[in-house]
Amino acid sequence: MITLYNYINGTLVSARSGESISNVSPRDGKVFSLIPDSDHHDVEVAVEAAQAAFPTWKKTSAEDRCKILTRIADLIAVHQEKLVHAESLDNGKPLSVSSHVDIPRAESNMRFFASGAQHFASESHVMENGTVNYTYRKPIGVVGCISPWNLPLYLFTWKIAPALAAGNCVVAKPSEITPYTAFLFSEICIEAGLPAGVLNIVHGTGPKVGEAMVNHPAIKAISFTGGTATGKRIASILAPQFKKMSLELGGKNATIVFEDVDLEKTASAVSRAAFANQGQICLCGSRIFVQRGIYEAFKRMLVEKVSKMKVMDPMLPESKFGALVSEAHLEKVLSYITTAKEEGGTVLCGGQSPEMPEELRGGFYLLPTLIEGLSPSCRTNQEEIFGPVATLIPFDTEEEVIQYANGTVYGLAASLWTKDVSRAHRVAHQLETGICWINTWLNRDLRTPFGGVKQSGLGREGGWEAFRFFTEPQNICIDPSH
Ligand code: NAD
Repeated sequence: MITLYNYINGTLVSARSGESISNVSPRDGKVFSLIPDSDHHDVEVAVEAAQAAFPTWKKTSAEDRCKILTRIADLIAVHQEKLVHAESLDNGKPLSVSSHVDIPRAESNMRFFASGAQHFASESHVMENGTVNYTYRKPIGVVGCISPWNLPLYLFTWKIAPALAAGNCVVAKPSEITPYTAFLFSEICIEAGLPAGVLNIVHGTGPKVGEAMVNHPAIKAISFTGGTATGKRIASILAPQFKKMSLELGGKNATIVFEDVDLEKTASAVSRAAFANQGQICLCGSRIFVQRGIYEAFKRMLVEKVSKMKVMDPMLPESKFGALVSEAHLEKVLSYITTAKEEGGTVLCGGQSPEMPEELRGGFYLLPTLIEGLSPSCRTNQEEIFGPVATLIPFDTEEEVIQYANGTVYGLAASLWTKDVSRAHRVAHQLETGICWINTWLNRDLRTPFGGVKQSGLGREGGWEAFRFFTEPQNICIDPSH
């Protein structure tokens, strides 16, 4: 049994209450670690440590901040194998995904924002009469970062790195469902020599730790990634305090396939977009709209490819499709398959849990599932399922598919597939999403604005957007003639 600790004021400590939460591996459903069941007392100590560290950290030169964050990136690379193993054990994602996506990206996040610390610059505006304005961007102070379970270390570092690079001190909470790599990250921060209190990691549940952070008056801004319902609750607490917030929430993303595509190539890309990480990426395309002329042919090809995806032990190197994150989540996803059938949908493949070897029977596995025959407005096509379930819907015209794609409360991402460049731009511009990929998916440049519209969130992460979020701009205006 592995015991995880909070990282507060530079040291690894248990929860003040002495209580812990059992952490289950989705691979076999067995408890493999214990995490601190922290509460507002632990958050209080973490905030005090962050406040004490802030005056020195904000004055630390950009070059020195860059050096230490780069050292953390270097140590992620050194400990890559351990982190990859931990991420898959904790989350159920295949080792191939942890080793090619999650952990390399956590390293890039640290390296990217570390270098950003040295390049971030603010604006100046000179008026006709010689008056000079410059924008003085100060770190905010103590900020809170709350992250979800689907890309654990990837999204944890995506928030922490810019917050620290901009000169803030951080209290961070990883998901209680996947806390392991955040704990290993705290060991890395100690090894890298990050000054005590600059980053504090408090483990525990959302209601006990997350809400204590959101409510804490000394935490001046919250960067949150998670579900829309949680985002609404957090926003309702933050808004009356007029705190800065960045909310990255759920999605119900459209994949739009026009009839001029290369069927084979596009079917492969679309199946990856729907089922990568067992469909548990906020950007996965779970509503697949296919133009009528190729609908049947494309469907056959897609079903053939998806049926061949083999659900396997995530800890095997050859595994490409592992377990869902928890029993509760598996049940939720299965309940949507039942709903889809009740709504008149036909399951084309999957739809149930596979037979797994004896030692994995307690794990949370589900076959990748494709469903057709549903209206775009039914629950299955409106609510976020966040699992390996995608629907196929035919369409005739551009206007029709734009209406379908935009016809949900969400607006995170879309991908569209066509050889017609004019159409690609024309349709992309009309989609109500924060991101639109054309003939690609999950192609990420860390400099681009990342985030959603409508109920998919508020604000943007990535590049300078993140530095702007984690700093407070002040206009300094000088009349040189005085
Ligand atoms: P969740 O909202 O249940 O939890 C996210 C985090 O918030 C966890 O750390 C949790 O402990 C914490 N939390 C829960 N209740 C809280 C509260 N009342 N106050 C403060 N913190 C609280 O989400 P999840 O199930 O972990 O993640 C899945 C969701 O995240 C999906 O909806 C997915 O679309 C979304 N997501 C969005 C993005 C994006 O960039 N837009 C990326 C990844 C995941």
